[in-house]
Amino acid sequence: MQRLEGKVALVSGGARGMGAAEARLFVSEGARVVIGDVLVDEGKALVGELGDAARFVELDVTDEASWQAAVTAATTEFGRLDVLVNNAGIWKIMPIAMMSVDDFMDVVKVNQLGVFLGMKSAIPAMSVNGGSMVNISSVAGLTGAIGQVAYGGSKWAVRGMTKTAAIELADLGIRVNSIHPGLIDTQMLQTVRDWGVEAEALLSGVPQHRFGTAEEVAKLALFLASDDSSHCTGGEFTVDGGMTAGFAPRN
Ligand code: NAD
Repeated sequence: MQRLEGKVALVSGGARGMGAAEARLFVSEGARVVIGDVLVDEGKALVGELGDAARFVELDVTDEASWQAAVTAATTEFGRLDVLVNNAGIWKIMPIAMMSVDDFMDVVKVNQLGVFLGMKSAIPAMSVNGGSMVNISSVAGLTGAIGQVAYGGSKWAVRGMTKTAAIELADLGIRVNSIHPGLIDTQMLQTVRDWGVEAEALLSGVPQHRFGTAEEVAKLALFLASDDSSHCTGGEFTVDGGMTAGFAPRN
């Protein structure tokens, strides 16, 4: 039996990167998936690739009405909602003294408000059969990092909101966990490399000494989405090549 057979998932930011890898893996494991993103062309192209088991909705995670429409798409198109992956995120790195309120709020709105609205909007539909919410935080939600006052702050918030939601929603049969990826080779990381930051410098704190892939994160999301993780709620799960394990000097 496939691990998500009969289940319906909604993946925010699912048009590319980790979200797209999760959508592909979930469909291959028997799920039907609603992909929500602001990237319309990429989202529709992915649905074209995945066929009947997938739908695209234009979703801006900062907008409550947009979330409600995405949840309605899942229940009208596929009849239920079992899994929510709050994956959409943006990254802005700036020293505290230089960061404008607008830049700070842009990050908080997508990364923190977006996760709150996703969980809030999905509760009624997910209460019917129970289910699993998977919130994508970061290693920046476990440690501090230079330039990450907004991004790191928002990812710590995701970790905290996850635990609150896990407690509040347990009686509804809804589990809520956070994933904390390290350096994953997606467009987001490419932005940093485009600034001229060498891979070697980025990898100096990673014991495995390599970037992770979107597919490696998706496999963890699959575990948390599926009944294999039935006793896991309120947990935080790293997929970071050992980055948060401790000091990792290399010769
Ligand atoms: P990505 O930039 O490829 O994907 C992010 C997706 O979110 C995009 O499809 C984008 O269009 C979407 N998005 C952005 N704003 C949105 C909005 N307002 N509404 C709906 N969708 C929106 O990056 P990724 O690496 O795949 O990131 C996925 C998640 O993983 C993010 O939450 C990110 O913070 C987190 N993360 C990434 C890394 C990494 O190294 N790449 C590490 C830790 C955590």
